[in-house]
Amino acid sequence: MSPDGAANSEKYLVTCGLPYANGDIHLGHLLEAVQTDSFVRYLKLSGKQVAFVCADDTHGTPIELSALKKGILPEMLIAQARIDHIRDYAGFNIGFDIFHSTNSEENRNYAELVYSNLKKNDMIVEKEINQYYCNYDKRFLPDRFISGICPRCKAENQYGDVCEKCNATYEPTDLVEPHCIICGNKPELRKSSHLYVELGKCENFLRDYINRPGVLQDDMRNFVKTWIDEGLKPWCISRDGPYFGFKIPGTDDKYFYVWMDAPVGYISSTDKWCKDNGRRVDDYWSTESGTKIIHFIGKDIIYFHALFWPVMLMNSKFNLPSKFFVHGFLNVNGEKMSKSRVTFILAKEYLEKIKHPQAPEFLRFYFASKLMPNTSDIDLNCGELISRVNSTLANNIGNLHHRTFVFCERYFDKSIPDVHWDEAIATVVDEAAKEISGYYERCELKNVVEKIHALGSLGNKYYQDSKPWELVKTDQVKAAEVMVTCVNLIKAIAIFLKPITPEMSARVERQLGSIFTWKDYAFSIKNKPLGTVEKLVKPIEEEEIAPVFTVPVNTEQPVSNDEKDGLITLDTFKKIELKVAVVKSAEKVEKSSKLLKLQVEIGKEKRQIISGIAMSYTSEEIVGKQVVVITNLKPATLFGHTSEGMILAATGSDGKPILICPEKVSGSGAKVS
Ligand SMILES: [Zn+2]
Ligand SMILES: [Zn+2]
Repeated sequence: MSPDGAANSEKYLVTCGLPYANGDIHLGHLLEAVQTDSFVRYLKLSGKQVAFVCADDTHGTPIELSALKKGILPEMLIAQARIDHIRDYAGFNIGFDIFHSTNSEENRNYAELVYSNLKKNDMIVEKEINQYYCNYDKRFLPDRFISGICPRCKAENQYGDVCEKCNATYEPTDLVEPHCIICGNKPELRKSSHLYVELGKCENFLRDYINRPGVLQDDMRNFVKTWIDEGLKPWCISRDGPYFGFKIPGTDDKYFYVWMDAPVGYISSTDKWCKDNGRRVDDYWSTESGTKIIHFIGKDIIYFHALFWPVMLMNSKFNLPSKFFVHGFLNVNGEKMSKSRVTFILAKEYLEKIKHPQAPEFLRFYFASKLMPNTSDIDLNCGELISRVNSTLANNIGNLHHRTFVFCERYFDKSIPDVHWDEAIATVVDEAAKEISGYYERCELKNVVEKIHALGSLGNKYYQDSKPWELVKTDQVKAAEVMVTCVNLIKAIAIFLKPITPEMSARVERQLGSIFTWKDYAFSIKNKPLGTVEKLVKPIEEEEIAPVFTVPVNTEQPVSNDEKDGLITLDTFKKIELKVAVVKSAEKVEKSSKLLKLQVEIGKEKRQIISGIAMSYTSEEIVGKQVVVITNLKPATLFGHTSEGMILAATGSDGKPILICPEKVSGSGAKVS
């Protein structure tokens, strides 16, 4: 008997990609985490034994480089990242069973084990190669310390290991026009000895593996097959020191390449979780365990997962993944997520800037409403997020819940009446449950959401057509039947949505006084008191969500020495261009209580500025005033209006803005310094 008491149920090990410790969790990470978490929650809800495992990916040159720039040890950098990552995922209710680190003793042991088995199986060769060496910086240049043109697609500014444009992987020496990223000089070639995994020896195994039914989506299988057809080159798994990672046993100054020990983190994190919870790692990773290993990954890392990883596992006789759910990239408002644009939205900004308490769950719901098990890119659109949340959760399901529960409160003494439900609706729900189970198992979350929306609409139509507000005066029993039916339908919807919106479903559970599992969807409730009725959903307004889509984020620019102590130099201040402007006209921005759209004149130049001063000033009050404007601010879009500058204001004791104006009327366009 296992600790769950679920000895005979199927066992799953589910992972999502390990976030790299050299950066914050952004909405792209969350797309994958939400997809994985919803799948895991469904499996758990339906009684399966599941371990949901993740960790920070902590090694390699980018981490070393970042720590170097910050003047701290890599260990300090990854410790902080882990705290931040755990906090951000928790903010969106991602329910990992463990979030570990690849910089752990468990991971060192497994990396060494995998390596020694590869060696034992004659899979490792040592080759002396020409490697780039920077004469200026006096060091060998690992892949991330070198940049050049991709040998395959000719994209510029690609690192020495993988092209971010076409996903090709290659050796640094394949790069066209290489240069050192520290000093920009052209490096020279020097001899260095490295360790390679001879992937070609496993070609037959790999062909067989990727063709196993269900392991890869069709397009991904074709992608991987092309790589195998092109010929599997030996894969270099060593790097010269200095390198932040695990030293390779039996070498002087060689380290495992980060992509060698990162996926091993799936095993070592499982091991740690097993040790902490009185389980056996063999029950998950041995070939006899029968556990289904399912990896959720982005399409950019399929090469590592579908070629290197199975070879590593097979040579150590570990359980092979049953399935990869590979997803596409996240775009924001139709544009690629890019660090230099407002489309790069961090999880913590979403959590901090949107004050609506249900906003994290709304993002889960919205992502789910778009996710299918394919590799198409997903667009996060601000307006669409609002309309999907409000139309399905607030106006459909929330409305059905509210009108039903309030009716029971008012006319049936705060309880669910003691009559039987409408069997026709109960049958519809039974059939929907089967359909929705299938959608969850195949990870067709979009279909789950559509089906649930249809059930909500059915409920509202049934309610409307039945007219319980009239029945209650003429036929109490019939009115009671309508209520019992709607309450049971709401219960079923809450269960169907529980993997996606666990908190909203918990509200229904609180009001019905039970915690539900999947099989509880069947109609069963009557003659029961209702808990305190609370609304399921507060609709979300554009004004609440707009801030994360409009304000550019800090793009990890290196902090110069004079900024570290919080002080800036005069030169830094001089970069800000401040001028006196005259407000020529002003109007309220629709749907916003805080914003005014102003036309200002700065000398001879006219500009439009969107300013958050409507709480303190009316349009009439502000026209004609002289104000101080930052004129060299990057334009931003607020509520669909371009803003070309910012007006300075102080914050009053009541929190409302007070304009900063010249003490005497000065010439429009005058410089402020
Ligand atoms: Zn390329
Ligand atoms: Zn250099």
